Amino acid sequence: MSVTPRAVERLIEALSRLPGIGPKTSSRLTFFLLRVPKEQALELAEAVRQLREQVVHCSICGNITESDPCPICSSDARDHTLICVVEEPLDVLAIDRTNAYQGVYHVLGGVISPVDGVGPADLRITELIHRVEQGGIKEVIIATNPSLEGENTAMYLSRRLQPLGVRISRLARGLPVGADLEYADPLTLARALEGRRDM
Ligand code: ZN
Repeated sequence: MSVTPRAVERLIEALSRLPGIGPKTSSRLTFFLLRVPKEQALELAEAVRQLREQVVHCSICGNITESDPCPICSSDARDHTLICVVEEPLDVLAIDRTNAYQGVYHVLGGVISPVDGVGPADLRITELIHRVEQGGIKEVIIATNPSLEGENTAMYLSRRLQPLGVRISRLARGLPVGADLEYADPLTLARALEGRRDM
């Protein structure tokens, strides 16, 4: 029988499943939570609970939201003929911060990466094709990261979208290769959007 209370072991186990947290760090965090005022620990638990109960994915664009459809998809002020395809919700934030884009988004939920076992079927690609097939879309801007996987995913999307007769464009080069969109400064990102080229 272990002398460590079961609840302690349980939290150590749960924390060690988080990215970048090994068994040592998860033990340290667990014992830290035992030392702080009870309210502080419960506040963390409550934040996690609310995160998962209140935040959902928009059924149209796949972005994270507290209301479905999300505020961007349901806004009359946005240009719904223009779809910007990004990898992650953080990329939506990065592009919207530029104030250089008034269209709507489509969040893939990652990139095609055979090494990591991620294929087209694991991403929200069918949903994107359906959106374009429904009509009313003039242009799809592919804004995946300028990484190998990002470029391959852009090529794949371009091939799938081509038969649908929609304009397909890609963010201009100028973003550092391998850099994540979410870390690009707004001005660089605005220029990349403005200078987008047809695929
Ligand atoms: Zn949406």
